[in-house]
Amino acid sequence: MVNLDIHPRGRHFLQIPGPSPVPDRVLRAMSLPTIDHRGPEFGALGKKVLAGLGEVFQTRHPVVVYPSSGTGAWEAALANTLSPGDAVLMYETGHFATLWQKMALRLGLRPEFLAWAGDDLVLPQAPGWRRGVQAEEIEQRLRRDTAHELKAVCVVHNETSTGVTSDIAAVRRAIDAAKHPALLMVDTISGLASADYRHDEWGVDVAIAGSQKGLMLPPGISFNALSPRAMEAAKHAKLPRSFWAWDEIVAMNADGYWPYTPNTNLLYALSESLDMLLDEGLADVFARHQRWAAGVRAAVAAWGLPIQCADARLHSPVLTGVIVPEGVDADALRRLIHQRFDLSLGTGLGKVRGRMFRMGHLGDSNDLTLLAMLAGVEMGLKLHGVRLAGSGVQAAMDHFAAQAAPAALDTFTTSQRR
Ligand code: PLP
Repeated sequence: MVNLDIHPRGRHFLQIPGPSPVPDRVLRAMSLPTIDHRGPEFGALGKKVLAGLGEVFQTRHPVVVYPSSGTGAWEAALANTLSPGDAVLMYETGHFATLWQKMALRLGLRPEFLAWAGDDLVLPQAPGWRRGVQAEEIEQRLRRDTAHELKAVCVVHNETSTGVTSDIAAVRRAIDAAKHPALLMVDTISGLASADYRHDEWGVDVAIAGSQKGLMLPPGISFNALSPRAMEAAKHAKLPRSFWAWDEIVAMNADGYWPYTPNTNLLYALSESLDMLLDEGLADVFARHQRWAAGVRAAVAAWGLPIQCADARLHSPVLTGVIVPEGVDADALRRLIHQRFDLSLGTGLGKVRGRMFRMGHLGDSNDLTLLAMLAGVEMGLKLHGVRLAGSGVQAAMDHFAAQAAPAALDTFTTSQRR
């Protein structure tokens, strides 16, 4: 039984790839009194967060906000744009792509699931779970679909189960090269606000996101960013929908309101996190995550363990998947690290259960919290009897010390000038 009476000293290290650590500023914003969701203050809050979301998704088109987890926004994307029996092209990059495909089946769609066809010696049970979407395969499949039966292409931007990103602009180019009218739907649940995501520039029709990752909020809000083509498709789509229907929400959002009760206090939190992200500037937010990710990868390389992502161009800035040596149970290792150091790591999901663990580097983090995470993992690996080639903590310290974070340099030079 879980002992809920424990109050460990210091902070718990929540290093799963979402829910991510929530900044104190955001937690404080959530503690404001709940207000009338039909009153004037709420309308101003609603308009503010919708405008900020447009900046974060990099879109001029509507962003729909749901009081739900990301799974709801997956369903909303499909239910608003498609009709029973529609064929959709999906791509198996990992566990979340697989769950989305299962959802499409349950909704009465006909998903076709493409997967990387090569072999992988390190992870033979899931070779495609080390690679991103192969845009050329999508192009070839769409070229063969001369009757345009495939109504949508659905891909995951940042596979949270593997730590591999996919090149969304390349998928758009593939659809265009095949001159195919399919809608492009992108799950950026764990990409948004940590990895560069450009809704309008990349020609995405529906994006799906959630609150508990790069937006640094607790779970409970999800998003669909739309395109004019997606909104047009919604006028003719026949899958049943009511709670998820975009039309009423988009209409009421014009004044900052929702057709049903929104989660007011999470929207206070969203307003605060949008201020934090936009004050920093998206380019700096993305560079910060890249720098953190490179430091964590330096540690894994020093340990001599394989990183799950096999394509150096596609390493996730959000999380790093680490494959453990054959015979080591990654979940037993995670349990030991949790018990000894109050540090939570992501489990291996689906086909890679027990073979890998995931380290999150997102949310309210900094160089020292990440070094603490790496120290906990390094101690745990040794205690579990895993032979390491060298010290990952030292490698990450060298990385972080050699390249100061831009924000740290700014603060330092400003305080020296005073
Ligand atoms: N898609 C991706 C890429 C995810 O990482 C997750 C959750 O971690 C989901 C979908 C499902 O979202 P939720 O658990 O918020 O319903």
